[in-house]
Amino acid sequence: MNENQQQNNIYDNLAKLGSHLTEMGNELAALKSQLNVALAQNAELTIENRHLQEAIKKLRDQHGEQQLSTGRRTLNELYHQGFHVCRKHFGERLAPHESCIFCDEAIFSGMDEQSGRQE
Ligand SMILES: [Zn+2]
Repeated sequence: MNENQQQNNIYDNLAKLGSHLTEMGNELAALKSQLNVALAQNAELTIENRHLQEAIKKLRDQHGEQQLSTGRRTLNELYHQGFHVCRKHFGERLAPHESCIFCDEAIFSGMDEQSGRQE
């Protein structure tokens, strides 16, 4: 291999390396844009999911409210404002985040037997 051939070889190799790097750069750009699309979709789905969860919760709350008579609805409101509505502790304050099964029972149980004399 003479000097000229050697130089040509080096240039060839550099040209090959250059085109590999260009190719890799293009692949990297493509991957980046795919990642951006995926991240955007993920953000959209997260928001949509939150909205759906809220809608479900609202529907559940409305449905639950509709099934309660006026008296029970009042008890339910008092209970959510932080007061016991059960016989045992009626009017006492609930501790923050405390729930009371007696209150739940007072609001929600035996609805069939009592529905006649509620309103
Ligand atoms: Zn209670």
